[in-house]
Amino acid sequence: MLVTGGNRGIGLAIAKAFAAQGDQVAVTHRSGAEGLPGELLPVQCDVTDSAAIDAAFTEVEEKHGPVQVLVSNAGMNDDTLLMRMSEESFTRVVDANLTAAYRVAKRASRGMLRAKSGRMIFISSVVGLTGSAGQVNYAASKAGLVGLARSIARELGSRGITANVVAPGFVDTDMTRALPDARRAEILTQVPLGRYASAEEIASAVTWLGSDAAGYVTGAVIPVDGGLGMGH
Ligand code: NDP
Repeated sequence: MLVTGGNRGIGLAIAKAFAAQGDQVAVTHRSGAEGLPGELLPVQCDVTDSAAIDAAFTEVEEKHGPVQVLVSNAGMNDDTLLMRMSEESFTRVVDANLTAAYRVAKRASRGMLRAKSGRMIFISSVVGLTGSAGQVNYAASKAGLVGLARSIARELGSRGITANVVAPGFVDTDMTRALPDARRAEILTQVPLGRYASAEEIASAVTWLGSDAAGYVTGAVIPVDGGLGMGH
C-alpha cells in the first residue's frame, strides 16, 4: 500500500497503522525521510509532478508489487480571505490537494484494474463540506475530492475497486499547530468532543476502509471530526 505525504502528521500515522497490521507500506515524501520507521519504504515524490508520481509508483511496484491500497493524503493550505486570495494561491492549493489526487488515483488504477481489486482512500476535511472563512481554496479542493471519489466509485466499482473519503475535523499536527492560539481555542468551542483528534484516530478509519470488513463500502464520506460537521 502507498500513502502520499506519509513522512509526517496524519499520513505517517496511517502508514504506521497499516504496517502494524503486517502490510507492506510505502510512503511518499518531499522534504525528507529522516527518522521514519525502518519498515516503511520511503519514495521521493512531489504530488504536483505527474512524472515524479509515475516514477514513485514504478519504484514501489518493483519493491512491493502493485499498489492494492492507495491513501491520497498529501495536502497543504494557504489561508486568507477571498478578497486577498491570489489566483496563484487558489490554483496552487487545488493543484496540491485535488489535481494531485486525480494524478495518483489514475496511476494507481492501472495496477488495480489488472488485479480487479483495489482500495482508494482520499483524505478530505470537514471544511470541504461545511465551508470555512479564509479557506476558499482549501475547502474547494477538499469538496472536490468527494466528487472525484464518488465518480471513481461509479466508474470502477464493477472492477472490484472502492473509492472512499475520510473527512477529518481538527487534528493535532503541524498544519493546525501553525494556527494562532486564539483560533485554536475558538475551534474547540465548536467541537462537541471538545478536543483535537490525534492522527491515530484518523488512521483507524483509514485502516478500516482498507480492510476486508469494509469491502461493501464505496463512495462514502466518513467524518472523523468529534461531531464538528454534524448534518453535513
Ligand atoms: P502536515 O502539514 O502535517 O503534513 C502534510 C503532508 O503532505 C506532508 O507529508 C507533506 O510533505 C505532504 N505534502 C504537501 N504538499 C505536498 C506536495 N506537493 N507533494 C508531496 N507531498 C506534499 O498535514 P496533516 O498531516 O495535518 O494533513 C494531512 C492531510 O490531512 C492533508 O491532506 C490535510 O489537508 C488533511 N487534513 C488535516 C487536518 C488537520 O487538522 N491537521 C484536518 C482535515 C484534513 P512534506 O513533509 O514534504 O512537506
